[in-house]
Amino acid sequence: MIQLTHLLCPRFPFLGPYQPMTQYFLHQLIELLGKDIVTTDACEVSPWLTDWRGVFEGKAQAVVRPLTTQQLADCVRLCSKHAIPIIPRGGNTGLCGGATPDASAENVIVSLDRMNRIHSIDARANTLVADAGCILGDLRRAAQESDRLLAVSLAAEDSSQIGGNAATNAGGVNVLRYGMMREQILGIEAVLPDGRIYDGLRSLRKDNTGYDLKQLFIGSEGTLGIITRVSLKLHARTHIRCAVLVAVESAAHALGLMQQVVGACGPRLQAFEFFTAQCLDLVLGHTEGAQAPFGRTYPAYVLIELADTRNEDALMALLEEVISQALEQGFCQDAVVSASMTQLQALWRLREDISEAQRADGPHLKHDISLPIDSIPEFMSSVEQRLRAVVPDCRLFVFGHFGDGNLHYNVSRPPNAERAWAADWEDRVADLVFAEVASYGGSISAEHGIGQLKRRAFYEYKDPMQIALMKQIKQLFDPNGIMNPGKLL
Ligand SMILES: Cc1cc2nc3c(=O)[nH]c(=O)nc-3n(C[C@H](O)[C@H](O)[C@H](O)COP(=O)(O)OP(=O)(O)OC[C@H]3O[C@@H](n4cnc5c(N)ncnc54)[C@H](O)[C@@H]3O)c2cc1C
Repeated sequence: MIQLTHLLCPRFPFLGPYQPMTQYFLHQLIELLGKDIVTTDACEVSPWLTDWRGVFEGKAQAVVRPLTTQQLADCVRLCSKHAIPIIPRGGNTGLCGGATPDASAENVIVSLDRMNRIHSIDARANTLVADAGCILGDLRRAAQESDRLLAVSLAAEDSSQIGGNAATNAGGVNVLRYGMMREQILGIEAVLPDGRIYDGLRSLRKDNTGYDLKQLFIGSEGTLGIITRVSLKLHARTHIRCAVLVAVESAAHALGLMQQVVGACGPRLQAFEFFTAQCLDLVLGHTEGAQAPFGRTYPAYVLIELADTRNEDALMALLEEVISQALEQGFCQDAVVSASMTQLQALWRLREDISEAQRADGPHLKHDISLPIDSIPEFMSSVEQRLRAVVPDCRLFVFGHFGDGNLHYNVSRPPNAERAWAADWEDRVADLVFAEVASYGGSISAEHGIGQLKRRAFYEYKDPMQIALMKQIKQLFDPNGIMNPGKLL
């Protein structure tokens, strides 16, 4: 027989003992879904409690790994009944601690990793429908086998899940040409915080029947519901690719180069990525097999990729023409053009391995920011001046999706400082960088989201009226506040 105290809500511990209630909830959860789906063993739960960078750590009483939308909905309904917080979990590559539970031992982590079926790829309609737990890289390869392109691409694509990409409105390296995740999504299925299933899984290109509710889930970081399935746009496969790594004198030269390349290459411009000499040094120091692209060091580099559906010679000729003009105009100091797919991939590794190299180097204070593109050079020099006035020998690692006005402006400890430097300086450095971003009309989060990491800055820099509206939407979807508490809002 169940004691009365076991039925009391754990959110109101003064009403009864916490532990028995938890056990009663877990007992019901296991009864509902089975031990194959629900893990409660502390050793097995523990790997799910930290984020990719190892910066955030929390607690949870269980990890639930459903196989179907219905199982997930049943789990959420039970959590809702007992007011148990739910932490939706994708591939755990998020950089803001959004998928890491907080310190409450009541948390239940819901992982989508077993919901990983591709339901359809339609090369005529250019659509792909898949479960939220599918790995982005697998979907891109599957689209490629059907001679189509799934446009979102990022360095973590072989770990991140499409549901996580949707929940964070991921950007990546092809935004310049195809837009962010939001622009790739045609339809969404999601489980709401009360366990109802929102069925918006349509593949229509046009549907003006009132508010576009699916947009609310995109970029909501798991705070409004759990995305279970998505319908995505596919594009023509641009398998003819060529890349060039350009050495530049400064961000101002990169900007001049960009204006020229955009004008000359139009939609063939797939990516325009920027990184400084410090980033390249870090990659060369930490990545096995990485090779210096030039005989000497330059202040910064731009990686440009052009891609098309046909005619490799024409694409290469266009690239060479653009680069020789850039050399003449002084935007470019030196350049290496890829002559094969292997060389192209080697050039990309120099850019894509920066985050891994930073992780190996120790804690970095990361600022994923966006700015009006024209203001990037001025921003970079003014923010550096302000930083150096306070911490003269901090190390700066600046890279990112320059073509989208998106910089990863990362600051690390001075050469002789302890690793604890990052924790001591985190808020002061963030205040300084974000104040400068705001003064240029930029955003404190370009593509990584808010999660736990940026909540303080979110409340400081986001328009209070917009925050109030977001809170009303949150209240409407999740009145008990069980869906990913402590994240975003
Ligand atoms: C090396 C590296 C490079 C990266 N490069 C980029 C980049 O170029 N562009 C970019 O945008 N990001 C980048 N990221 C960040 C990260 O890969 C993206 O944010 C990615 O979209 C997160 O997906 P995930 O499946 O790993 O989500 P997770 O990290 O598991 O979760 C992220 C957030 O989404 C929520 N969530 C996850 N799944 C669901 C779901 N099914 N339903 C509802 N909510 C859910 C979580 O609760 C959490 O709030 C990079 C990360 C790394 C480590």
